[in-house]
Amino acid sequence: MPVALITGITGQDGSYLTELLLKKGYSVHGIVRRSSSMNRWRVDHLVQDESIYGKSLFLHYADLSDDASLRRIFFKVNPDEVYHLAGQSHVALSFEIPELTTHEIANATIKLLEICRDQAKPPKIYLAGSSEIFGHAQESIQKEETPFNPTSPYGVCKAFSVQMGKVYRSGYGMHVSNGILYNHESPRRGENFVTQKIVRGAASIAQGKTEFLELGNLDIERDWGYAPDYVQGMWMMLQQEQSDDYILATGKTHKLSDFLQMAFEYFGLDHQKHIRINPKFVRPNEPVQLCGDSSKAQNLLGWSPSVPFEQIIRSMCKAAEKIN
Ligand code: NAP
Ligand code: GDP
Repeated sequence: MPVALITGITGQDGSYLTELLLKKGYSVHGIVRRSSSMNRWRVDHLVQDESIYGKSLFLHYADLSDDASLRRIFFKVNPDEVYHLAGQSHVALSFEIPELTTHEIANATIKLLEICRDQAKPPKIYLAGSSEIFGHAQESIQKEETPFNPTSPYGVCKAFSVQMGKVYRSGYGMHVSNGILYNHESPRRGENFVTQKIVRGAASIAQGKTEFLELGNLDIERDWGYAPDYVQGMWMMLQQEQSDDYILATGKTHKLSDFLQMAFEYFGLDHQKHIRINPKFVRPNEPVQLCGDSSKAQNLLGWSPSVPFEQIIRSMCKAAEKIN
């Protein structure tokens, strides 16, 4: 039974990755941080399942800032594969809390790389990079070789993390792969990311609970994919003999206004009548358009995105309808 350790198991990607690894016969260990209110809804169905929890799925308490606990967990679990997904994941928030963002992304990455380097047999490591490393990108479709040009504290920290992953690979011969992932969504997306905010907002308006949804910059374009496809790519990276950097993206961009229109149409609404722009949600600086070329992952890993834009929106709307 291969052993995987996931940081950020309670997040969108962590929860889908756990399901994938359990199906593949892994023993899965996840790191959760303590909080006074339980925030484990994405993995609750697995934790409640007596045939899984305590048998092939185990949770351990630690925060990324809690060095001793982290080290203890790594040495106890002795994983074959580490998926490092945890950390402050919101770009806009990184402008408000840049120091915490740096601690949780940049410092934590080094910390985990160092812990892994000290293991008797260092595990294979997946690091969660981001398209935000390209920022004001120097090419309209970005490849792994496109120069980094981040525009937010989040992007800067992710660029640091990706670069540090490369250093540990070449400097220490460790199996460290960077996934440079473009936006990926699902019904489990955090509610302050724009896609989830829109579908939940539209559902709430359709039910007569609210009348308006406040948003920021509507002039942006993103390359939106489906999260379960992207966790499959993470796993594929760690099955390669050599570690490397891979972009996971659909290669197609959509305007935020297209997302808005389709989500509101699902609920029989005209978005133009319900959207207000609030400068509070406009970022000081951000990439207008990001689009990734995933041909390397397609050719070397056999990875490909399988769920089209319209279907992602429908699945999120359907789930939002039930929540409200
Ligand atoms: P997410 O849903 O926001 O999950 C983040 C996870 O990190 C949660 O489990 C969270 O725990 C945990 N976490 C945050 N701070 C922590 C701390 N100090 N100590 C321990 N755990 C902590 O993010 P995601 O969408 O799954 O993304 C996973 C990773 O990929 C992130 O690193 C993100 O930046 C990166 N990424 C995501 C996308 C995307 O489109 N989703 C694109 C590119 C890169 P709680 O549940 O307790 O909050
Ligand atoms: P990100 O690409 O990882 O920052 O994911 P988000 O879903 O947070 O944002 C995607 C894009 O939507 C960014 O370009 C935001 O500026 C834009 N956007 C416009 N209005 C909003 C809003 O109200 N909330 C968020 N989160 N993003 C918004």
